Amino acid sequence: AAQGPAPWLDDLNPAQRAAVEALDGPVLMLAGAGTGKTKALTARIAHLLRMGKARPNEILSVTFTNKAAREMKDRVGRLLGEVAEGMPWMGTFHSLSVKILRRHAELVGLRSNFTILDTDDQLRLLKQLVAASNIDDKRWPARMLAGMIDGWKNRALTPQKVPSSEAHAYAGKGTELYEQYQDRLKTLNAVDFGDLLLHCVTIFQAHPDVLAQYQRWFRYILVDEYQDTNIAQYLWLRLLAQAHHNICCVGDDDQSIYGWRGAEVGNILRFEKDFPGAKVIRLEQNYRSTPHILAAASGVIAVNAGRLGKTLWTEEQEGEKVRLIGHWDGEEEARWIGEEVESLQRGRAVGRFRLDDMAILVRASHQMRAFEDRFLTIGLPYRVIGGPRFYERQEIRDAMAYFRLAVSPDDDLAFERVVNLPKRGLGEKAQGDIQRFSRAAGVSLLEGAREMVARGLIGGKGGGQLRAFVDGVDRWHETTLNLEANHVELAEKILDESGYTAMWQADKTPEAPGRLDNLKELVKALEQFENLQGFLEHVALIMDNDTEEAIDKVSIMTLHAAKGLEFPVVFLPGWEDGLFPSQRSMDESGLKGLEEERRLAYVGITRAEVLCTISFAANRRVYGQWQSQLPSRFIDELPAAHVEVLTPPGLYGGGYGAAAPFAGTSFGSSLEDRVAKADVYNSPGWRRLQDRSSARPVSQPREARGTVIDITAASAYAVGDRVFHQKFGYGRVTGIEGDKLDIAFDKAGSKKVVAQFIVPAEQ
Ligand code: ATP
Ligand code: MG
Repeated sequence: AAQGPAPWLDDLNPAQRAAVEALDGPVLMLAGAGTGKTKALTARIAHLLRMGKARPNEILSVTFTNKAAREMKDRVGRLLGEVAEGMPWMGTFHSLSVKILRRHAELVGLRSNFTILDTDDQLRLLKQLVAASNIDDKRWPARMLAGMIDGWKNRALTPQKVPSSEAHAYAGKGTELYEQYQDRLKTLNAVDFGDLLLHCVTIFQAHPDVLAQYQRWFRYILVDEYQDTNIAQYLWLRLLAQAHHNICCVGDDDQSIYGWRGAEVGNILRFEKDFPGAKVIRLEQNYRSTPHILAAASGVIAVNAGRLGKTLWTEEQEGEKVRLIGHWDGEEEARWIGEEVESLQRGRAVGRFRLDDMAILVRASHQMRAFEDRFLTIGLPYRVIGGPRFYERQEIRDAMAYFRLAVSPDDDLAFERVVNLPKRGLGEKAQGDIQRFSRAAGVSLLEGAREMVARGLIGGKGGGQLRAFVDGVDRWHETTLNLEANHVELAEKILDESGYTAMWQADKTPEAPGRLDNLKELVKALEQFENLQGFLEHVALIMDNDTEEAIDKVSIMTLHAAKGLEFPVVFLPGWEDGLFPSQRSMDESGLKGLEEERRLAYVGITRAEVLCTISFAANRRVYGQWQSQLPSRFIDELPAAHVEVLTPPGLYGGGYGAAAPFAGTSFGSSLEDRVAKADVYNSPGWRRLQDRSSARPVSQPREARGTVIDITAASAYAVGDRVFHQKFGYGRVTGIEGDKLDIAFDKAGSKKVVAQFIVPAEQ
């Protein structure tokens, strides 16, 4: 075994070191946020490899998001330097399951090129089944059935295993429809998200030889964010670890935020029972956040009952208190945060930070729009993480359906989506005919269509166009089978030959140009993949549409997507009852939902390293409706000693912290207090003042822990900045790319200039 210096152990504390060095047998690391669980897990991988305990492919490491998997890969790569032997299996439960399932698809009646459906397709399929079984979908919405099926899958229940007490849910036809749905998926050679795990578990349970092969393979298993595993994931892990028991799980019961998706905190508590002799290691030192931030988070989470409870301490400098600010409405909140981000970037307040160091964490994805709009307006580079937003757009979904057809011509859902898009004279009747014909013949829609065209069963203009469509799919499919073919060119060709691009070119609506841009983006995204199938898989699994780009950007994501991440500067907007905590959690009887929301608040605050700002608005437009809002009950739970209340811009003459509308009121106040707070922002005076330009914060500058940037870096500039160049004179930044800036010079015209040759100029 390779011995010698072990730099990956050097910066670990004794408890972390113990967790890393206990290589054999079950280990459970149970500790609060920011205590270095993920760090220790990563070091453990390095240690396993360097001690010669395992080859890379004998290690299976499960993370919760693709982003986390990527970060872990980077970290292990850095710890080890160049490893010639390749990397361990690292990924999410879903991405790892896809890999496994592709190799054994036939064991569950699928072919290895199966399609992964997204929730949209899933719902469409369910609607068809519901309609066919004469259920009133007003009373029994298909969405409800989708939820039930997901729930069963999360519990690893095939239709046969659903307990009889639940079998009759959904108009008495729950399991019946579940079974039909699974059959349809099989016919379509498709799976939904839940199937990825369910099928793997089914295979492992029914084929001991296959299981044994993976058990031999994955000699060491590591799991991050263990508190959020559901039963199917738990079984998946237990089956794989059963033979050797070399499983190391890390988690924090206070950060369990996926109960709504079937996660069971109980899995943590059960660990010692399942794996007798498990070493349980607790970590208590937090290395991430300042004491104020930690105290604020601890104060909130302390309200929850039934916690395992733990101590957290830090050696960090005291730093800023958690800042709290109220706004008139959601737009104003976005405006303020945009300005705050810019001033932090320029080092005008608190410290100087890169945009990469800042994140805005929202409770609900509809909150993102206000920020996206605002940031686009002021030219602040941002990325949205965690939502398949880009891939949710109509044109992207259409294009993807074409790609899916090219890869798997039997993908009926994709066929349905695009067969008459652009219009090919195939109306509802013709499409219905194809459906019936194909079903009767027991073939895919494409095959059915081909046959009908051959027999001349589809008349008129539609017939000829359908033939061209079928021929096109055949050609594209053939190209996908040719390993030499360039898939990026193929994608362009598909969009051109199908007439899809032309359709948007001919479109005169204002959105059309944007859609064409998005299609270009899509084709560009393909370059990073080996082939179309790899790309489609990536998109299906994507939780992160953000391909590695060098450019400095502020991140916007949901609190759920932020789990495990950390940022020097964190904004937590929308702390209002009904939004956060969510209305649903408040309506629920019992405290379960509310406690999960509180854990989410804890996750949010503990993402911050040096500066955490919580905000709320008195008015908010949700799906087009104006609502007046009350500050979140969680705000009252923040320990007052660790919070500084900021005055909203323009109010009471500006200036932060001084004449705050409710500075000095005790936190932990009553509902009336919260109403009073909200009323401040309903006053006409506030309304008048809120248009006034905002003052900059005036807090004391402090040493920032975030990466200090220098002015010679492109990231010191933002689009719209005035700059000066020795030779070209004054100009304005119009774009940023790596370390180069696009600048429109007043006299010299547009030029690309390396950042270090320019200096900032007054506006
Ligand atoms: P979460 O519960 O939020 O997932 P975590 O317990 O996984 O947090 P990490 O993300 O591993 O915590 O670590 C938090 C931060 O503390 C990281 O920046 C990490 O590099 C740093 N850190 C962890 N352990 C140490 C240590 N022993 N010395 C110095 N820094 C450390
Ligand atoms: Mg972590």
